[in-house]
Amino acid sequence: VRFMIPSVVFTVVLLVTFIFTIVVIFRQKRYTEIKNDFINNMTHELKTPISSISLAAQMLNDESVTKSPVMMKHLGGVINDESKRLRFLVEKVLQMSMFDRKKAIFKKKELNLNELVDNVANTFTLRVEHTGGHITTKLNATEPTIYVDEMHFTNVIFNLLDNAVKYRDPDRPVELLISTWNDKEKLYLSVKDNGLGIKKENLKKIFEKFYRVHTGNVHDVKGFGLGLAYVKKMVELHKGEIHAESERGKGTNFIISLPIIKNK
Ligand code: ADP
Repeated sequence: VRFMIPSVVFTVVLLVTFIFTIVVIFRQKRYTEIKNDFINNMTHELKTPISSISLAAQMLNDESVTKSPVMMKHLGGVINDESKRLRFLVEKVLQMSMFDRKKAIFKKKELNLNELVDNVANTFTLRVEHTGGHITTKLNATEPTIYVDEMHFTNVIFNLLDNAVKYRDPDRPVELLISTWNDKEKLYLSVKDNGLGIKKENLKKIFEKFYRVHTGNVHDVKGFGLGLAYVKKMVELHKGEIHAESERGKGTNFIISLPIIKNK
């Protein structure tokens, strides 16, 4: 028995080291895959606005263009819109890295969730109606006060609505239901769409940084896989929670709960 103990200990140590090495290798492999996907997606997404801006700038050298006020206005609009888009994309990556380094600065204030939702929903009306669909709002929260950073919280709602339109089912108009309600302790916001939906096995990963659901073609809908990671982080930094319910082919419902701020 005295001779057996060291050999058992040795075997256990060997086994643990082996398992540990395998875990590290798999993690590294997954990290490399995620990193490569992110670089691919980001390059792809940044390329589009950069090409549009560069094309518009080239056209400004053309005399027939500079003589036409209509064309000049159009090109000015393209450069303006595309640089805004570029800024939004860079800002998204920057915000996440600031969160990671715990350098995000919040300017929190009391806001009315119903009003905030209404404002963001209005900016989406045209995009949704363009698909032949509608946005329905049921803003029933009677204690709608939230204590949040306005810019970040607007981005949270914006990201959810943007995804609802991005991941729509191309065969049917977008129907979006945005609701708010509360009980005694919590205030809720739900964004429910009738889009492509998310498979059960992917649902638990969608809030991970850089995660994107792989369809046949990753690039058919653009993104970095940062939107929902940002949304979750933001909600949690405001002492809230978020979860999603979804069925592939039927649609997705994102539900956020936040602590109630009692009006004094
Ligand atoms: P991105 O849109 O940049 O890929 P997100 O973090 O916003 O990143 O979303 C992660 C993934 O979750 C997306 O790639 C998409 O597959 C899925 N997803 C998010 N919102 C929806 C939605 N409303 N309907 C269906 N799928 C969604």
